[in-house]
Parts: sequence; C-alpha cells; structure tokens
Amino acid sequence: MSDLCERYTHIMARIEQAARASGRPAGAVRLVAVSKTHGVEAVERLAACGQRHFGESRVQEGVPKIAAVAGAALEWHFLGPVQRNKARLIARHFHWLHSLEGLDAAEALSRHAHAAGTRLHVLIEVNVTADARKHGLAAAALPAFLEAYCAREWPGLVLSGLMTMAAHGASEGAARATFARLRGLAADCRQGFGLTGFDELSMGMSDDYPWAIAEGATMVRVGRALFGARDAG
Ligand SMILES: *Cc1c(COP(=O)(O)O)cnc(C)c1O
Repeated sequence: MSDLCERYTHIMARIEQAARASGRPAGAVRLVAVSKTHGVEAVERLAACGQRHFGESRVQEGVPKIAAVAGAALEWHFLGPVQRNKARLIARHFHWLHSLEGLDAAEALSRHAHAAGTRLHVLIEVNVTADARKHGLAAAALPAFLEAYCAREWPGLVLSGLMTMAAHGASEGAARATFARLRGLAADCRQGFGLTGFDELSMGMSDDYPWAIAEGATMVRVGRALFGARDAG
C-alpha cells in the first residue's frame, strides 16, 4: 500500500472510531480531502484508494484539476471565499460550497447553478471565534441572514448547514467549545426558521477532526494529515 493510502486508511479508521464514540455510524461523517496545492496526480492516487470527496479553496487552482479528473465521478467542495466574478465557475464545477457568507454571492451562485441545470449545496460559514482574520458571518448575524435568505427563492441552491474553523492551535477544550457552539447554532437555525435538510456540520481539520466529530461534525476537511505539508496557504 502507498504511504498516501496508508494515511487515508488510518484517518478513515480514526473517523469511524470517533463517529462510533459519538453514538453514530461510521458513514455519518464524510471525509473531504483538501487537495489544494497538490496536483492532479495526488487526487488520482487518493481516488484510487477509495476517496470520493475533494476540497479546494481557489477557483483558478481547483477548476483545472476538476476538469482533469472529470471521468472519475468525484464530488468537489469549494472552501474559499466567493469572489463574484468566480461564481459561475464555482456553480458549474463544484457540488458543495462551505463558505457562503453573503446574499450577493448566493444570488450569483443560484443563478449560475440554475442556468447550468444543477443545484449547489451550500453551507454558511460562521466565524464562531470572532477572529478578525477569519471569514464567515458573526454568530449574531445568522438570524438576520437567514431571515433575508428565507424570504426568497433559490432555484440553484440547497441550503445544507453550517461550517466553521476552530482557532489555530486551540486546545481540545477550546476547539470543542467552538464546535459545540456551531452545533447549537445549527439547531437554533433549524428551529427558528423551520429549515429542513439543514443537517450538515462542516468542522474539523488535520489537527482537530476527532474533536469535531465528538461534537457532531458530519464533514471533516483534512489536508495536511492526508497529503503532507503545503508550501503556503
Ligand atoms: C486548507 C483548509 C483545510 C484543510 O486544512 P489542513 O490543516 O491542511 O487539514 C480545511 N478547511 C479549509 C477552509 C481550508 O482552507
């Protein structure tokens, strides 16, 4: 087995173990392999190990990769900020977006996905830790965002849940508090706005995914622990 497949198998086992420990079946947590800065070949090798979901955070890097492996029936997740002039490419090439934080972006994404005859699954990114360097809506801004969102039709979108990041280098306690907060916010959203299908919690990365699963993550976004170190962001 290659090193990559070995790391993949190890991570899948940890995911399964953490899911079971949280009272859920292994299949309740999806691994999104974050392939940013790694080439098509790394994606193909990991897909050959059995991985289906891949994540990218830059359109200009992700789209050519997606095109290069188009026959492989993979699902692609966009994790980076949405620039309006990239909405069409995101809507056409990706299946999931984890980083919705504005109605302008939602409008453009919905329009382009609808025109392409698809629907993009979107998660709202929440800046739970109120870190000025991070993207995402403030937790306090979620109700107003959802009120505006729910007042309109979005033929190209499927609103599917929330995403967050713990603080870099956070302790287990601090990271788990962040993740538990996101879980609570999602429950508030479902209840307050009668949302159905709003079940995805995208939280947990290389350093903290078992803790995120313990707090209810349904998707973990893992880059370095799978593919090794990146040069830059
Ligand atoms: C890069 C990135 C990840 C993966 O981070 P690792 O620390 O490499 O696991 C997860 N989520 C987002 C939004 C990212 O940009």
